[in-house]
Amino acid sequence: MRHRIAVVGCGPAGLTFARVLHRHDHPVTLLERDPAPDARPPGGTLDLREGMGQLALDRAGLLAEFRALSRPEGQAMRILDPDGAVVRDWRPRPDDRANPEIDRGQLRDLLLGPLDVRWGSGVAEVVPGTRDGVLVRFADGRQETFDLVVGADGAWSRVRPAVSSVTPHYTGVTMVETSLDDVDTRHPDLARMIGDGSMAVYGVNRGLVAQRNSGGHVKVYAQFRTPPDRHAHQEPADAEAARSSLLALFDGWAPPVLDLLRHGTHFAHRPLYVLPESHTWTHVGGVTLLGDAAHLMPPLGAGANLAMLDGAELAESIAAGSGDMDEAVRAFEERMWARAARWARITAAGLDRLVSPNPADAVALFDEVQSS
Ligand SMILES: Cc1cc2nc3c(=O)[nH]c(=O)nc-3n(C[C@H](O)[C@H](O)[C@H](O)COP(=O)(O)OP(=O)(O)OC[C@H]3O[C@@H](n4cnc5c(N)ncnc54)[C@H](O)[C@@H]3O)c2cc1C
Repeated sequence: MRHRIAVVGCGPAGLTFARVLHRHDHPVTLLERDPAPDARPPGGTLDLREGMGQLALDRAGLLAEFRALSRPEGQAMRILDPDGAVVRDWRPRPDDRANPEIDRGQLRDLLLGPLDVRWGSGVAEVVPGTRDGVLVRFADGRQETFDLVVGADGAWSRVRPAVSSVTPHYTGVTMVETSLDDVDTRHPDLARMIGDGSMAVYGVNRGLVAQRNSGGHVKVYAQFRTPPDRHAHQEPADAEAARSSLLALFDGWAPPVLDLLRHGTHFAHRPLYVLPESHTWTHVGGVTLLGDAAHLMPPLGAGANLAMLDGAELAESIAAGSGDMDEAVRAFEERMWARAARWARITAAGLDRLVSPNPADAVALFDEVQSS
């Protein structure tokens, strides 16, 4: 008998889980709060690592398509000092496929493929252990039961309270994201400064990172330490106010670097929250978590990779199923917790060094990563 499986959330974790199950002809119900795939901007570029995100795509049978879409040249990394002088400039070898970049929208569409998503299905609550299985209550009042509910619904998961009372806490660092379009024709000097991949500038307790996406789109992330009560979760109503407060914060930095803020549009606040580094829970039959819902950590290039690996591994364990799905889920959770705890420590230490009182520490971190 096939189990009734639902996955809540169609980000990298949920889609990879569903796509690998689909490859094994196992039915899965996909529940997503967004009303449509393009209901909101998909976000910036992601680097997918060999042995992590790329391994997950291989398990989904999508590695060749990923290689055709991804941008190996996006692995280029340049560091400038606040005066605008280049202090490091790493370029990938032509055959380097270790961490190529892909736009989030492209990755989503690649994973979606033939999957049938129930868009506009926001989950409000999950109640395990009812007579007919795990009860899912939707935001619109409907309800439905399943044998397994997989919470892949991100940082503010509505599934998580069914297994854990833990909630994310603020790291002390906020990002403000802005973007530039058509950079090669509209801002050729900035395009040259950024290069083919990413460019970063680090100062005392702050940094500016610019990342190339496809089609001449650039995302800029201003990062700084600030108390938790000075920012909101939503886009600031006034882009000009956001721009001038950032220009004041980075006052004195080289004019071309500040041009990244001067020409930016649509400023969005992203205070960085994390779950505890070793977030585990007592296993609850019929419910589990994947990706950010299970192990939210600072955005240092691991979160989507881990989310996809989680999704692929859980799907394969279920598909291999000797019958006892709950045992497969329990064993998967142990593996996921150990791996996530390792990365949570690495990324927390990384964030401390990138947004630190000593900017040389940020450069030293990149030296270590590039030489490993
Ligand atoms: C600025 C930035 C840059 C990053 N860069 C990288 C990078 O280069 N490499 C990398 O590996 N990671 C990166 N990350 C981290 C990465 O984005 C996340 O770790 C990853 O998206 C987590 O995937 P997920 O599927 O677990 O959750 P999400 O991507 O958050 O997806 C959750 C999904 O669940 C849906 N949902 C939420 N609530 C409900 C509900 N109640 N009911 C139904 N659906 C719901 C949401 O709409 C969403 O579609 C970055 C993060 C940020 C902020």
